[in-house]
Amino acid sequence: MISAPRGTSDILPPDSSLWQHIEQCARTLFQRYGYAEIRTPVFEHTELFVRSIGDTTDIVEKEMYTFPDRKGRSLTLRPEGTASVVRACLEHKLFSLGKLLKFFYAGPMFRYERPQSGRQRQFHQIGVELFGTSSPLADAEVIAMMVRFFEATGVRNPTVILNTLGDTDSRSAYRAALLSFVTPHLPNLCPDCQRRAERNILRVLDCKVPSCKAIFSSPDTPRTISSLSSSARAHYTAVRQALDALHIPYTEDPTLVRGLDYYTHTIFEVRHGALGAQDALGGGGRYDNLVREMGGPDVPGVGFAIGVERLVMALCQASVPPTSRAPDVALIAHDEQALRDNLVLADILRGRGLSVLTWYDLQSVKAQMRQANNAKVRWAVIQGEDERHHGLLKLKDMRVGTERLCSLDELVTILSANLPS
Ligand code: AMP
Repeated sequence: MISAPRGTSDILPPDSSLWQHIEQCARTLFQRYGYAEIRTPVFEHTELFVRSIGDTTDIVEKEMYTFPDRKGRSLTLRPEGTASVVRACLEHKLFSLGKLLKFFYAGPMFRYERPQSGRQRQFHQIGVELFGTSSPLADAEVIAMMVRFFEATGVRNPTVILNTLGDTDSRSAYRAALLSFVTPHLPNLCPDCQRRAERNILRVLDCKVPSCKAIFSSPDTPRTISSLSSSARAHYTAVRQALDALHIPYTEDPTLVRGLDYYTHTIFEVRHGALGAQDALGGGGRYDNLVREMGGPDVPGVGFAIGVERLVMALCQASVPPTSRAPDVALIAHDEQALRDNLVLADILRGRGLSVLTWYDLQSVKAQMRQANNAKVRWAVIQGEDERHHGLLKLKDMRVGTERLCSLDELVTILSANLPS
C-alpha cells in the first residue's frame, strides 16, 4: 500500500465541510473590504523566493522544496504567497503609484519542516495583500480584518501579538544594538546563529535551539522599540490608536520578529491558546520595500497569511459543527424501472437547485427509508408500480410523516417552493 508522503494529509468528509466553511467566511468577509481573489502557480522560479524571503532565512536555507525541471531550471514549490502575488502584479503591470490594490489567495504551501501537530510539509494558507498605501490605518484595518475573519469562522478569543521593526534607519540601528549584545555570547551560540550573526543578525531571534532561545529571551536583549526613528515611532503609535478605536485588543511583544526578511514597521501574529506549541493561527506585517526590491515601483504593502490546518484544529476544539447540508429529497425506488426513472427525476430536481439522494442498485424500501432518515432528508419521493401506472409519484414529508400523490409537475413545483434559502 502506498501512503501519503510524510507531512501531508488528506482532508476527508466531514472535515472538508469545515474547510469549505472557512473558505466561504474568507470570501464573504474579504469581499466586504474590497479584496479580489488572485490565483498564482504552485511553483515559481527559485530565485523569486530567495530574493524576496531572504537567503539567510530558515525558509530559504532549509525548508524549500527545490528541484530542477527537465531543462535544468531551478523551480521551487511556493513556501508562502506574498512573493508570488508581487511577481504576478509586476508581470501584469498592475502597480501604479498611489493606486490601491487588494488581493486575497487561498491554497497549498510547501515547507520541508519536521512534521508535528500543527506543522506540516504541505499546508494551506489563506492570505491577503494590500498595496499602495503606507498609512497606519491600513495596517490596523488589515489586522482587524484578520480578527473579524477568525470571529466569523467561530474561533473564540484569538490573541493579537503586535510589534514593529520600524523603517530602514530603525532596522539598521536595531541590528547594530543586537550585534553588540550578541558578540560576547558568540562562543555559546549554535553554529547557525554564529553564521547568522555575521550574515543577518535579526534572524538569531528566530532560532529554535533552546540554549540560544534562553539567551535571546533575557531581559537584556535589545528591543526593536528602543531603536525606532521618530517617524517609525509615530507610525506604530497610530496603528495602536486605530486598533483601539476599532476595539481590537492586542498584546505588544517587543521580541516578535517573524521569519521573513521583507517586513518593515508593523508585524503581528494571531495566536490561540488551545493549539499547543505551534500556536500561531496566522501572521503578517507591512513590507514597504519588497516591491521596489523586486524591481518594481516604490509601492508599499501590508498583508497576512493564516494557516488553515491550525484554524481547523482551533475550530474542532471550539466544537463548531461541520456545516454540510442534508439532502433535501430522497428518491425511493420500489423496482428497477423506478431506479432508472429516478436518475432522470434527480437530474430535473438538481437542476432546480435541490440536493437529491438516490441509489443505483435496488435495495428494500425499508433500507432506503432508513438511509434517508439517517441523512435527515426533508422529503422522500416514492415511486413503485402502482404510482407509475397512474402517472403519479408519492411525496412524503419526513418531518411530519404526511403523504400525498402528485404529478411530476406538481412535485417539482412543491419542492422548488420549499427550497432552503
Ligand atoms: P508564515 O508564512 O510563516 O508567516 O506563516 C503564517 C501561518 O501559516 C502560521 O501562523 C501558521 O498558521 C501557518 N503555517 C506556517 N508554516 C506552517 C506549517 N509548516 N504547517 C502548518 N501551518 C503552517
